[in-house]
Amino acid sequence: MNIKVVIDKKSGVCGGVKRAIKMIEKQIGLEPSRDIYVNGELLHNRLEMERLIDCGLKVEEDVDRIKDNILFIRTHGVGKETQNLARKNKNRIIDATCPKVSNSQKIIEEYYSKGYQIIIVGKYYHPEVQGLLGYCNNEGVVVSSERYIGTIDFAKKSLIIAQTTVSTERFDEMVNMISPRMKDLKIVNTICPFVEKREKELIEFAKNHSVIIFIGGTNSSNTKVMFEKFSKFNPRSYLIENRTEIDFKWFRDGDIVGVSGSASTPAWQIEEVKKVIEGHFS
Ligand code: SF4
Repeated sequence: MNIKVVIDKKSGVCGGVKRAIKMIEKQIGLEPSRDIYVNGELLHNRLEMERLIDCGLKVEEDVDRIKDNILFIRTHGVGKETQNLARKNKNRIIDATCPKVSNSQKIIEEYYSKGYQIIIVGKYYHPEVQGLLGYCNNEGVVVSSERYIGTIDFAKKSLIIAQTTVSTERFDEMVNMISPRMKDLKIVNTICPFVEKREKELIEFAKNHSVIIFIGGTNSSNTKVMFEKFSKFNPRSYLIENRTEIDFKWFRDGDIVGVSGSASTPAWQIEEVKKVIEGHFS
C-alpha cells in the first residue's frame, strides 16, 4: 500500500509547557539533598510525564505532604493558600505557572480587590480554574454552560474572564448570555492565543490531508477542544495517546496521512508515530 506520512510542522508543545519542561530539566540534579515535587501532572501527556519521572521528578497532588523539599508549581498555577502552605512546610518553590495564567491571576486579584464579582468561563474542577479561584478568596462563579448562569448575582458589578483553554465560541456564548442582564460587566478574554491559533492551523491541516492522527492526552481539555473542532473538517481523524493505539485499518492506498499533536505533545512523540506508520507500510 502506498502511503505518505506528513508531520504538522506547526505542532509541538506550547510556550508555557516548553518553559516548564526546561525549568525542570535545569533543576534536576542541582540539589541532590532535596526531592523535586510537582503538584500534579506537569502536562497531560503520559509518556512525557514518565520520562520526567525517570529523570527524578516526583508527583504529589497533596501539597501538605511535601516537606523540606522543592515544590515545582506547574503551568496551571495554584492559589495563594497553596503557596503559603508549601512555604510553611519549608519547601523551596519554583514557579512554572505559565505567564498567561499568571496574568489571569493578577487580573482576578485586582478586580476582586475592587469589589467585583468574578465570573470564570471554564470547568470548575480544572486545576487552572481551581488556582484562579485562589485569587478571589474562592468566591468566584465558574460557568461552563447555560446551566450555571443561575449562580451569578446579576445585580453586582462583575468581571468575566476565561480559563486559558476554553474555546472562543464557548466564551462568546457565555458573554452574550450574561452581558444583556448586567449593568457593569468588564469582559477580559484571556483565552491563550496559542490555542486559538493552533485551532485555525489544525482545521487547515485537517482539510488538506486524507487522514489525521492526532496525539494528545485523553485527560487534557485542550486536546479535546482542539480535536472536536478540527475533526469536523475531516471525518477520518483519530485521537490517540500513543503509538500503540494506531489501527492500520484506518489507512487506504494513496492516503496522505497528517500527524499532529496537542499543546502538550512533544515533537519526539509525533516523529515516533510517523516512523511507526511508515515502518508498517514499507
Ligand atoms: S496553552 Fe497557552 S496558557 Fe496553557 S500553558 Fe500553553 S501557553 Fe500557557
